[in-house]
Amino acid sequence: MIPFNKPYCSGRELGYMQEVCHSTTMSGNGQFTKLCHGFFEKRYGFRKCLLTTSGTDALEMCAMLCDLQPGDEVIVPSYTFVSTAIAFLREGAKVVFADSGAHNPNVTVEQIAPLINERTRVIVVVHYAGVACDMDAIMALAAEHHLLVVEDAAHSVDSFYKGRPLGSIGHLAAFSFHETKNINCGEGGMLVVNDERFVRRSEIIWEKGTNRAEFYRGMVNKYGWCDIGSSFLPSEFNAAFLWAQLEQLDDIQGQRRHIWERYDAGLRNHLPEGFSVAELPGYATNNYHMYYLLCPSLAARTKLMNYLKNNGVQATFHYLPLHSSKYYEERHDGRELPNCDRYADTLVRLPLYYELADDEIDKIIKLIRRM
Ligand SMILES: *Cc1c(COP(=O)(O)O)cnc(C)c1O
Repeated sequence: MIPFNKPYCSGRELGYMQEVCHSTTMSGNGQFTKLCHGFFEKRYGFRKCLLTTSGTDALEMCAMLCDLQPGDEVIVPSYTFVSTAIAFLREGAKVVFADSGAHNPNVTVEQIAPLINERTRVIVVVHYAGVACDMDAIMALAAEHHLLVVEDAAHSVDSFYKGRPLGSIGHLAAFSFHETKNINCGEGGMLVVNDERFVRRSEIIWEKGTNRAEFYRGMVNKYGWCDIGSSFLPSEFNAAFLWAQLEQLDDIQGQRRHIWERYDAGLRNHLPEGFSVAELPGYATNNYHMYYLLCPSLAARTKLMNYLKNNGVQATFHYLPLHSSKYYEERHDGRELPNCDRYADTLVRLPLYYELADDEIDKIIKLIRRM
């Protein structure tokens, strides 16, 4: 069976984790955490980075930093992972779901603008498959209404919008290093703070509501309880694992690009009637997070997935719409979100991981072309 995903190890992870065993810091914010923060801040110009124990945690930190009040509304895409919405619901906000655009699963200003009212505080965007949302238009809309923008950049490491790194454009952003993402440490994530106003508070929330980080930098002579917070820091073991991956980022991205392009050359112009592949908007780069097909119907997708499975290939569908989920259906305002429903019914993701071999890719291509 060709699995859908195989988490990648560069080979240096264990050595770095062993270094942690012999060091004086095994808890968070030690040397490997600082190496990871420095890597992202230097390479992508992020104002401030804080590793977290998951992408979900990073989103929860974003929501806490937005300082939401009862009755505040947050606009969230319906076609996303549950964490994108839960992070804001936990802060007591009302989540208002936006539909995807017609051309890819991302939200667009046309979908967001009609949902804005005097209670709206935040727009959350998801760069689906690492492909940028149209951020100039979304940032302009947010500025006009004095809203914050949070980028769920869980898929988006090393991807760009008009030359600007994803995660650097909104006020706040969240990355994930879950094993299914391009760069992984099992479970892990990162908060990015781009707006200076949130820098100090982000570190306090990260460190259980204390100013311990400032204390360690010698900025204050004792540390204490300053604000709300939680334990969002990953241990040095996670950071050491992640550092080994970051050292190999260009290699990992190069290999994923090779796989993506081999799929694309074999499939784009050779698909059966009614099937299509992703179209990349001119303003977006591809970070090769995902290769997906769009099927003509739910029935056609089910048939394709079963056919692939019977031939030793594990393909998967993706998000179930959040607005019509069991948990949220009764809270949703009843609006139809037809594009979201269509992606939920028709999108199928093909295996894409570092060790996927050319003959395995060719086998998958041949199966699909012959179906
Ligand atoms: C993976 C993912 C998350 C959650 O990240 P975890 O690290 O698994 O907590 C959030 N949003 C999106 C869009 C994701 O794909």
